[in-house]
Amino acid sequence: MTPAPDGLSDVKQKVAQAVDRLADDLERISHLIHANPELCFKEEKAAAWLTEFLEKQGAAVERGVGGLPTAFRATIESGAGRAAGPTIAIMAEYDALPNIGHACGHNVIATSGAGAGAAIALALKTLPFAGRIQVIGTPAEEGGAGKVKLMEAGVFKDVDAAMMIHGRCGTQIWRPSLGVIKVKCEFFGKASHASSWPWRGINALNATIQLFVSLDAMRQQLQPDARVHGIITKGGDQANIIPEHTAAEFYLRAPTKDYCKELLRRFEACAQGAATATGCTVTVTPDPTIHDPLKPNFTMADLFGKNLERIDFPVDPDDGEAGYGSTDCGNVSQALPTIHPYIRISPDGVPGHSREFAEWAKSPLARKGIVAAAKALAMTALDLLADPAALKKAKDEFGGTKI
Ligand SMILES: [Zn+2]
Repeated sequence: MTPAPDGLSDVKQKVAQAVDRLADDLERISHLIHANPELCFKEEKAAAWLTEFLEKQGAAVERGVGGLPTAFRATIESGAGRAAGPTIAIMAEYDALPNIGHACGHNVIATSGAGAGAAIALALKTLPFAGRIQVIGTPAEEGGAGKVKLMEAGVFKDVDAAMMIHGRCGTQIWRPSLGVIKVKCEFFGKASHASSWPWRGINALNATIQLFVSLDAMRQQLQPDARVHGIITKGGDQANIIPEHTAAEFYLRAPTKDYCKELLRRFEACAQGAATATGCTVTVTPDPTIHDPLKPNFTMADLFGKNLERIDFPVDPDDGEAGYGSTDCGNVSQALPTIHPYIRISPDGVPGHSREFAEWAKSPLARKGIVAAAKALAMTALDLLADPAALKKAKDEFGGTKI
């Protein structure tokens, strides 16, 4: 049964009040995660703090779901006799970046998502609507494609719609993201004394440098939103040895999966060219997991926007200054109706993956973002359970669009 609209309104108010009651705890856990940055698949402390917190508020917690020790699922279900019904997932990320810590603000994502579930559990105990809400703890967004692994393990099999929030220098209910193919490239040459016998060596570092130069030339003929960028992970062993083996890693990004594949084709040609020019041999190894671009769901995004409005949290016009990143949430969005909106946790113009953004991720502005995001996520999940027509509309939209 769909409850009367003011019934839903009461429920939303109770849950929002519960978020306010939990706000100090959420900020404390956010700061703990921030102060203890853990890399992909190693988020043991973060997963422990989040699951303990959700359990304490009354959610049923499963740890290590999908074969990933730092993944979890926390479920809040409807009361007796209403166990059937849809499943709405709220995703939480909590991994950090190497050396620059929580410069992507995943501590904010974690506590917003867990905060939404915890507030629902605390305020309602059991859901007044048929179905369930699950907070899914998804490890390894930065480099491990944890959500893809969880999907392959069936964790999202019964999920009808999914959502998460990401911190940013502005609040936007929709921004695109790019697909990514990650690729490793190794060159093999021949070692020789770099001074007395240089002509007897084959220089694998020259091949890597040539590849970067070729990619720079290639870039001018790419479509504007495509991105090709990389680092050298091995440049040689010592300056007096002609490098016999070098390695580099690249991300090839584009708004569509097809154009990502075109980038890989061109990349392979550049790598082959660099090998030929230097006399090296080359291996190009693309990661089998392609990150998909985000598929929008404007039905769910609108609900999320209306809930932000309800709590008087302003949505910002897109500054138009920044390009786009990528996320393993893209793969979820290609499998089921999904939203990935952004909440402000810094002033305008602060780039993600910067030390400055890492500082903002533990600021009073981040606390405001966590509280608003937890409320809006919880309310949007409740909207989809309370109103089967809204969920159907989101599903119809998902079935009718392709990106
Ligand atoms: Zn990031």
